Amino acid sequence: MWIKPAQEQGIRKTVADRKVQLAVYSATARLKEKRAEAVSPDVFPEYEELRSQANRIKQHALENLDHYLEQFEKNVESHGGRVIWAREGAEVADFILGLANERGVSLLVKSKSMTTEEIHLNERLEHHQLEAVETDLGEYIVQLAHERPYHIVAPAVHKTRQDIADILERRLHVPREEEPEKQAMIARRTLREKFLAAGIGISGANFLVADSGAVVLVENEGNVRLCTTAPRVHVAVAGLEKILPRAQDLAVFLKLLARSGTGQLLTVYTSFLSGPRRRGEVDGPEEFYVVLLDAGRTRLLADKEKRQSLFCIRCGACLNACPVYRKIGGHNYPGAYSGPIGAIITPQYQGLARDPWLPYASSLCGACAEVCPVKIDIPRILLELRKQITESRTGGLERMAFRLYGWLMRRPKLYALAGRMAGKLARIPGLAKLGPGAAWASQREIPLPAGRSFRDEWRERKKS
Ligand code: SF4
Repeated sequence: MWIKPAQEQGIRKTVADRKVQLAVYSATARLKEKRAEAVSPDVFPEYEELRSQANRIKQHALENLDHYLEQFEKNVESHGGRVIWAREGAEVADFILGLANERGVSLLVKSKSMTTEEIHLNERLEHHQLEAVETDLGEYIVQLAHERPYHIVAPAVHKTRQDIADILERRLHVPREEEPEKQAMIARRTLREKFLAAGIGISGANFLVADSGAVVLVENEGNVRLCTTAPRVHVAVAGLEKILPRAQDLAVFLKLLARSGTGQLLTVYTSFLSGPRRRGEVDGPEEFYVVLLDAGRTRLLADKEKRQSLFCIRCGACLNACPVYRKIGGHNYPGAYSGPIGAIITPQYQGLARDPWLPYASSLCGACAEVCPVKIDIPRILLELRKQITESRTGGLERMAFRLYGWLMRRPKLYALAGRMAGKLARIPGLAKLGPGAAWASQREIPLPAGRSFRDEWRERKKS
């Protein structure tokens, strides 16, 4: 079996859970609708041109990654910050643990970051008795519920307001509130104290700008600003692929990201951070670090076809468009990334052997590629991955079966005889559900073969 029994059970459970189905279906439908309005040719005629431009910029940035990363590092350092290079997630955690130890910090605040989810940073820090508190409202809710984010952009998309009321009441010991505004106020009051007490603020990065050394972060809640300015130390953790060559490229990406993610023209806050607080400035951290994470990314660079997986700007539009994600939900994908982008990058980061079923978690309908603002050809990459899996898994029996098939195809009379016999066997009830095709046939109605073969029909037509 390619999929582990526990994973299959998880999927079955989600599909049968009407409450989760309704919550995810309606939230993703809303996001889809808002995106469609925001990119419609009437209100945003330059959309298609910007998508092509974004694709070209990403391609160029990745082809010259070494140059732009070095330029970025030089510029960060010229502003008084430091760049740390991390091959794996453990190195990121080690660096932050070292910093916390040296500075005597036990409380850290975090803004939403898929990269830190990818490397399980919270768990690694908690393992060393550090408290790392998520400050994005959705992330905070899933953290309180001891869960993973369900969606790249909307981490608590599967929770109803009643679920959230339960979580806040149980975990924060506050009176039950079902109104979203009141729930937000409860989280805000609790988190405000954490911001003021934390010694280190950790963020991700939406973009890293090589020509200015800036870390660019977009958000709607203001928690990123507090996270990156209130604590004495700010650490931004970013994948190497987040690099953009020039500040002016942001004009393309900021417009695409907000529209594709939430249907907004721009997010409420866009922060450009390029170093620690300078003399005369009233806020900002005293120390500023950017940790650049590889974790499988440079390996992916070597593959010209699949390299485009690294173009992703984590807008989440492909999740909202995907019929499989909307049905099986975010928690059934292994790893931090779910939906179509998760189905292509998780196997490439962690290796194909661990979850070979992932590239098959797609109907190949193409909806993901249609909405992707950076034009990643996700269905093509899924097919490439499937091909790789098939090639590596094709066993002796399968190879022998194909050899026999090839041999038969070259002998027309024998082939016709075998065809007639197969037609007869296929009519025996239940036979298709035995043997190697059993799993496939268990979910499908196998159509009965036609009474007459194409050859017979052809011969007859030629006679008449
Ligand atoms: S693959 Fe494209 S649509 Fe999906 S999250 Fe990334 S940028 Fe957005």
